[in-house]
Amino acid sequence: MTGDSKSRLRSSRYGRKIRTRVAKIEEKQRAPQICPKCGREAKRVAPGVYECPRCGKFTGGAYFV
Ligand SMILES: [Zn+2]
Repeated sequence: MTGDSKSRLRSSRYGRKIRTRVAKIEEKQRAPQICPKCGREAKRVAPGVYECPRCGKFTGGAYFV
């Protein structure tokens, strides 16, 4: 009885940790990036790639941190 509930708790805790990590990464990707050159807000055009209206495309930190 006790052992069963313990292993269930452990597996759910592990899953939650992974989900939190993924959610954090996705949140970062969706959030507008600030262009490192001019400080303008840039749009995400691809995973880890952003486009500044003034400087063009640049890579964001989403996949490289
Ligand atoms: Zn820029």
